[in-house]
Amino acid sequence: MAGIVGLLAFDKVWNVSKFLYYSMVGLQHRGYASSGVVMLNQDMRSVVKDVSPEDLEFQLEGWAGIGYTGSRRGYPIHNDEVAIAVDGVLRDPESFLKAFTKDREKALEEARGAFSLVAMTRDGEIVGYRDETGVRPLSLGGFGFDMGIIASEPVAMSVIGGDFRREIQPGEMVTISSLNVKSRQIKEPRKAYCSIEYVYQARIDSQVNENSVYETRVRIGEQLAEEKPIKADTVIGVPDTALPFAVGYSRKLGLQLDLGFTRTGSPIRTMLASDSFLKIVGVQLKLNPIKGAVFGKRVVLIDDSMVTGTTLKNTIMSLRRLGAKEVHVLIGSPKLISACPYGIEVPEDKELIAANLSEEEIAKVLGADSIHWLSLEGLFKAISRSTLCTGCMTKKYPKVI
Ligand code: SF4
Repeated sequence: MAGIVGLLAFDKVWNVSKFLYYSMVGLQHRGYASSGVVMLNQDMRSVVKDVSPEDLEFQLEGWAGIGYTGSRRGYPIHNDEVAIAVDGVLRDPESFLKAFTKDREKALEEARGAFSLVAMTRDGEIVGYRDETGVRPLSLGGFGFDMGIIASEPVAMSVIGGDFRREIQPGEMVTISSLNVKSRQIKEPRKAYCSIEYVYQARIDSQVNENSVYETRVRIGEQLAEEKPIKADTVIGVPDTALPFAVGYSRKLGLQLDLGFTRTGSPIRTMLASDSFLKIVGVQLKLNPIKGAVFGKRVVLIDDSMVTGTTLKNTIMSLRRLGAKEVHVLIGSPKLISACPYGIEVPEDKELIAANLSEEEIAKVLGADSIHWLSLEGLFKAISRSTLCTGCMTKKYPKVI
């Protein structure tokens, strides 16, 4: 998974590097293990790749640029004429780069995969393309009359004070140059929007496929309340993703809503911390439970998803240590039972706890009093769309590759 941005100033006197950098910071929730940018000045040679996000605050010069922040190394890929950043899965990216350099529309017609991309050409164009399924998001915006922006999510625009204009449609190519913004439908849409974008991937303040992410998550919380009303003293959500679920759940049932966790210190990249003590400290710094919110209470704890269950198990243990009387777990997505071939890092089936154990067994492993996952019907109802990919929850994948 990745956040991608392309940004072009309509007047070459601008240096857009800071705008690009902060847009990428706004997309780091989509992944930040590796970041890279390519800037366009005279010769497209300003390239920085495979660096950690902190190292990206650089002083490169350019009136246009594209950026990648995500889990893969080597992006953006580029040659002397074109640079490309991809979110999702694009088959054989190097051959695609060659084909795109020769004839971009033909290359897009023939591309295989499930992806969104931004490209920058040496002659001064930013191109955005969303494959015909629209599985990964992509949006168009600007910065007043000075810049055009294409990015994974509208937050990449709002964080720099820019404006979101619209989402790019499945199968649509949008080209920004210093003269104009053009659109062309390259392929007929076969919509299969990723459900996980709504559940946890996209940022709370974003919009995905014309749905507000925040409002969708509140509706998911309301659905959970309909499916599994629990007599509890308080409802808490795991920050940040699950907070709107808790809002919807508590609102629907008239239950008290509490802030169950706080973050302290500067963020520690726990996945990368080699020292096991640092890993534990990193997790606690990220998410330290608040005693006053849970002591002596029957707690409903809502999270967005469950992969291996390890983090949730630790969270429940912490809540009990702080005196929670009961802990009932609700998950704002259906069970994850299968890997994602389209760019979201859902592990193999054997690592997914819900694919291998019964609900009772999972509750026991986690130390929870009860556990409930959102139903598939509940998910469709909350998102109000039928054109969704639910492959990792149903093993029924849309045919995209
Ligand atoms: S398989 Fe799951 S994570 Fe992957 S695109 Fe489909 S819904 Fe999204």
